[in-house]
Amino acid sequence: MMAPPLTRDAYRDVGRYVVDQSVIAIDLRDNTNLWGVPPAAGRAIAASAAAVSRYPRIYASALKDALAAYAGVTPDMIVTGCGSDDVIDSALRAVADPGQRMAHLDPTFPTALTFAQMNGLIPAGVPLTGSWDADADALIATGARVIYLCSPNNPTGTMVSRESLERLAMHAPGVVIVDEAYAEYARTSAADLTGPGSRVLVLRTLSKAFGLAGLRIGYAIGAPDLIAGIEKSRGPYKVSVVAEHAAIAALTTDAPWVRARIAETIANRGQLAGRLAALGLRALPSGANFLFVPTPQAAPIERCLWECGVGVRLYTGLRGIGDAIRMTVGPWYLMASLIQALERATGRSAAMDGPAV
Ligand code: PMP
Repeated sequence: MMAPPLTRDAYRDVGRYVVDQSVIAIDLRDNTNLWGVPPAAGRAIAASAAAVSRYPRIYASALKDALAAYAGVTPDMIVTGCGSDDVIDSALRAVADPGQRMAHLDPTFPTALTFAQMNGLIPAGVPLTGSWDADADALIATGARVIYLCSPNNPTGTMVSRESLERLAMHAPGVVIVDEAYAEYARTSAADLTGPGSRVLVLRTLSKAFGLAGLRIGYAIGAPDLIAGIEKSRGPYKVSVVAEHAAIAALTTDAPWVRARIAETIANRGQLAGRLAALGLRALPSGANFLFVPTPQAAPIERCLWECGVGVRLYTGLRGIGDAIRMTVGPWYLMASLIQALERATGRSAAMDGPAV
């Protein structure tokens, strides 16, 4: 059953942040869920106060059960962590030794490269193909111990094709990590490529579609022996009592709310891409809850939006792309303010016959 769309009042204060003494009225920089915390998860957070004097479960076993049911795998194929950042870190420590290489798409999520370097690995970037796909043969040819893929890719929002994923799963010399932080918005996954005998590890998070970024809950899906090694390097007590309760509520009771927000995000993503095109800004095809627009005008546009109280992410000098801006897709009310600010930044007008705001 689909939950009804939220009213304007419900998300009025979401995305209001104070940064460097200035207030950004709308923060579209971090691809979090701009509809806020799912309702049952919010109640679970409030109800968890009394449990905080005790330690959580060592390896978050109840959460693993809920994640396994959500992902359609067995609990021994799940490892959790303090955000998927932490799971990337634990996984790299478990599967590679200092001095080995980690091949990755270029550009991709930079924090993964930071964790590679922190673990003594040598990042090896491979450019995206002309159709924004992973170059499977070039990645395999690096001989890297770890291949880190991100699909949908951050920051481009583009997808690694099924064909490339299968080729990499079959022929990569080591472990293939597929970071699916935004997979709910693509409605496709490489999770079926994991399992006994497979060296594919799928990374997920509750920071995006599930609206719980501040609680820091990430997980990975993989073959039981791969997962056991990562759990060893992860260490105990990584998911707090409050986070575990909220995550279980979000995965179970809030499922219809989450599905409805995903559907709204996907619809708004299409509407927003159309308005951007009318302003002369061509977004790349996105499977995520954000749009990425390469443009030589990225820096002045980002500055102008900032002055209008709208925060977007600026990229400069990306390999094969140049300068670009990236913006989170959220409730249409926020998208309408973004479009207004973009009209001012570009000096053009975008037809506004989208959803009522
Ligand atoms: N992977 C990707 C591709 C991301 O964009 C992010 C967050 N920006 C993460 C992982 C980290 O997410 P988490 O909040 O679970 O640490």
